[in-house]
Amino acid sequence: MGRSLHLHPQRFFPADPQVRSIAARLYAAVEDLPIVSPHGHTDPRWFSGNEPFEDAVSLLLWPDHYLLRMLMSQGVPLESLGFRSADAAPVATDRRRIWRLFAEHYRAFRATPSRLWLDHVFATVFGFEVRLSPETADHYFDTINAALATPEYLPRALYERFGIEVLATTEGALDALEHHAALAKSGWKGRIIPTFRPDDVVDPDRADFVANVLRLGELAHEDTSSWHGYLAALANRRAFFRTLGATATDHGHPTARTADLSPLKAQELFDRIIASKRQPGDAEVFRAQMLTEMAQMSCDDGMVMQLHAGAWRNHNEILFNRFGRDKGGDFPTQTDFTAALKPLLDRFGSRRDFLLILFTLDESTYSRELAPLAGHYPCLKLGPPWWFHDAPEAMLRFRRQSTESAGFYNTVGFNDDTRAFFSIPARHDLARRIDCAYLAELVATHRLDEDEAGEVAVELAYRLAKSAYRL
Ligand SMILES: [Zn+2]
Repeated sequence: MGRSLHLHPQRFFPADPQVRSIAARLYAAVEDLPIVSPHGHTDPRWFSGNEPFEDAVSLLLWPDHYLLRMLMSQGVPLESLGFRSADAAPVATDRRRIWRLFAEHYRAFRATPSRLWLDHVFATVFGFEVRLSPETADHYFDTINAALATPEYLPRALYERFGIEVLATTEGALDALEHHAALAKSGWKGRIIPTFRPDDVVDPDRADFVANVLRLGELAHEDTSSWHGYLAALANRRAFFRTLGATATDHGHPTARTADLSPLKAQELFDRIIASKRQPGDAEVFRAQMLTEMAQMSCDDGMVMQLHAGAWRNHNEILFNRFGRDKGGDFPTQTDFTAALKPLLDRFGSRRDFLLILFTLDESTYSRELAPLAGHYPCLKLGPPWWFHDAPEAMLRFRRQSTESAGFYNTVGFNDDTRAFFSIPARHDLARRIDCAYLAELVATHRLDEDEAGEVAVELAYRLAKSAYRL
């Protein structure tokens, strides 16, 4: 069998022995805190149905666009991993062979966060003591599949075993939330809450936008052919989400641009777009205006607003046309915040009853824009490093670049933002370790006393997420 798989108890801590022991002391106090997961993309159906997960490939490989991206970069076609293309190219169907192919390329993930998360899952969830490799691929495949068929690996059992206190999922504005409703009635004590993500009804660049706005009207019993009816329908859906526990909205926009048009101008813009008579630039201004409208609604109904800006989605058009979205063809772009957010901040910046959490894929904005903005406007806080930056070095860069302007209390703790349910403990553990590593440096260089660092470690691991997301 292959080489041993061993998670070092002091992994990710600084190499210097003195700093390392401070980090270890800080970490010991946060290691076992419950997991608060206020933003992510797991499927509520898993928890309402509580059916066994199918197998290693469909659980660990297929939903993970981090893995697909890297495998593709190494010349592995998605068809060979079992993905069916629109042009009906031959597709691999033997799950064992797909898993073997993944194992053959596992070395491509060395020193990437995917490797750290997966090894954590393999060691702590499935009890593997040998590394995944071509030689151990079958052993892994059989062991994982056998485990998944047992009651201990059912979704609700794992939720409890992982120590999750609350788990937020993400749904479009038209979602019926039937799984959340079933969960609410089930009597199970797990807390799975929806998040209102209205991109499907506020982004005119989506091919299904006009149809979605019509459907929005039907669901909310409002006339969405008018601007006022459209806004009322959105407020109605937000209220529906709140009845099933939602405390937050999420907005995935290509840019952070906001606008504050007069009611008449906004109505004219909406009328042009809904009548398919849009002019160049209308879609971007409409998205911008809708962020400001959503901020107004958050002031009215108390929902926390999250903005994920700066992803160029479906950059690889051939991949998108053949396999659809979320297959690893999305990239970070340069993003402006200071100018882009000004129209929204001019209206709501000083409100203390409104919270806007900002996420970026453009690290250069942390010290130049985001941390100074969050270190001034009461309504702004910084989300944790997102997507490409949810990794040890990038998390440290985030703390180094943002803390001196924004401090710790203008951040909101960690969120895992994942559809990979099994990796949730791995991701939170990594974030806790990195924060303790950073705090240990502050203690060792006498910028913070150890008792204060200990307090901050607990805030970052647990309390800030609960308070920011009103959980
Ligand atoms: Zn997300």
